[in-house]
Amino acid sequence: MSISMPPRSEHVNQNDALISLQTEVESLRELGKLFYQRGWSVGTSSNYSVVIQRQPLELLITASGKDKGRLSTRDFVRIDQEGLPTRAQQLKSSAETLLHCVLARQSGVGAVLHTHSVWATILSDVFYGEGGFSIEGYEMLKGLEGTTTHQTSTWVEIFENTQDIPALADQLSGRLEGGLRPLEHAFLLRRHGLYTWGPDLDAARRHVEILEFLFEVLARKLQLTSTVPAHVMGW
Ligand SMILES: [Zn+2]
Repeated sequence: MSISMPPRSEHVNQNDALISLQTEVESLRELGKLFYQRGWSVGTSSNYSVVIQRQPLELLITASGKDKGRLSTRDFVRIDQEGLPTRAQQLKSSAETLLHCVLARQSGVGAVLHTHSVWATILSDVFYGEGGFSIEGYEMLKGLEGTTTHQTSTWVEIFENTQDIPALADQLSGRLEGGLRPLEHAFLLRRHGLYTWGPDLDAARRHVEILEFLFEVLARKLQLTSTVPAHVMGW
C-alpha cells in the first residue's frame, strides 16, 4: 500500500508568508469582526492595512473579496510600496491597494483603514459639490490624533469615486503634497466610503470609531433641521 502525500497547497505557502505576523493578522481579524457588527464593513466591502516594515516599506493588507466579518488567518497579503506582492503564491490583494500604499508612504502613517458605512456614504454624496465638509466644535474630535480640545475643526475632503485606482492614487498623491487645507486624518470617496489612517493600528481604528460617530451626528442633524422648524430645535 502506498501513502501519497497531500499536494503542497497555495494555502500552505500563504501561511508561511504570514507566520511571523500572527499578532497583526489577529488584530485585523478582530477589527473586521467589530466593523462588520457596527455596519461599517458589510459584505466584502472595506480593506485594512498595517505597516510591517518601514525601510523598505512593506504592508500587510486584506486580500481581495473577503468577508470582513469572517476573515480567516489566510486572508492577508504582504505587499511593497507599489502594491506588489513581496512573497510568492499569495492571494490577490484588495482592489484599492494602491491607495493604501500612497497613504502608508507618508511619514507617521502606520495603518490605513477603509470602510463603507451608511452615514459616510450619505455625507460623501450630499457634500460632494462643496468638495468636502468641516466637522467643528464636537467633544469627540479629541479622539483624533494630535487633538486636545473640542474647539477645533477637521476637514473631510471628498474625491469622486472611480474604478481607475491608479489614477485616483495619483490624484491623492498630488493632494497630499499640498492644498489649501491639509488632509490630516481622513477623506471620503463619493457614494463609496471612508479612508482614515494613524501612526499605528490602534489610532487608525480609533479614527474610524470617532469619525463614524461624527458622521452620524452630522447626518442626523441635517435630517432634523430639514424636517423640524428651527425654533423648535432652538437653532
Ligand atoms: Zn471601498
